[in-house]
Amino acid sequence: HRFFQAEFIKSSVRTEDCPSDGLPEFALVGRSNVGKSSLLNSIVRRNKLALTSKKPGKTQCINHFKVNDSWYLVDLPGFGYASAPRNFEQIGISLLKTIFSIAQPCWLGQNQVPMTLIFTKCDKRKKKNGGKRPEENVNDFQELIRDFFETAPPWIMTSGVTNQGRDEMLLHIAQLRNY
Ligand code: GDP
Repeated sequence: HRFFQAEFIKSSVRTEDCPSDGLPEFALVGRSNVGKSSLLNSIVRRNKLALTSKKPGKTQCINHFKVNDSWYLVDLPGFGYASAPRNFEQIGISLLKTIFSIAQPCWLGQNQVPMTLIFTKCDKRKKKNGGKRPEENVNDFQELIRDFFETAPPWIMTSGVTNQGRDEMLLHIAQLRNY
């Protein structure tokens, strides 16, 4: 099996302060509490690596983790809180707005930066989504985003608890690095 060396490099407040060694970077973008840190830990097979970024004052930073000395996982500051229960459509639309404002897919597209949709906490079946299986939610979501993209971005189902999707994410990252 793969050997992983993963280390926390630094927390940066400004993009100018981020590592500039030119290694490929894979950033996790999403609301606070969606499970970005757990996913990061799952990917690198380390239980507490991303805790570094949970230290007070570090959550609003851009956190760089170097993997195998050859690429970075980047934990971007989370935004907002999933508070009041919403139905799936509302979640989907607010998520799309978020993707547009934060990740700016037009900019990503123009600059040929690949984007992948990562579904987190797939071990859970949420009552507020009518108890649907995660796969069913993905279908709903694909419908929802159809109008927003020329070609639908790839998606991966994950869980930081069962480590579902870990190998798929690593394979995906490896493929992107070889482009
Ligand atoms: P972040 O703010 O996006 O980094 O989210 P965290 O990784 O800190 O996770 C937020 C909460 O969700 C924590 O209480 C985690 O234990 C829980 N959580 C994270 N990932 C999963 C998952 O895959 N499955 C389940 N059931 N809970 C998760």
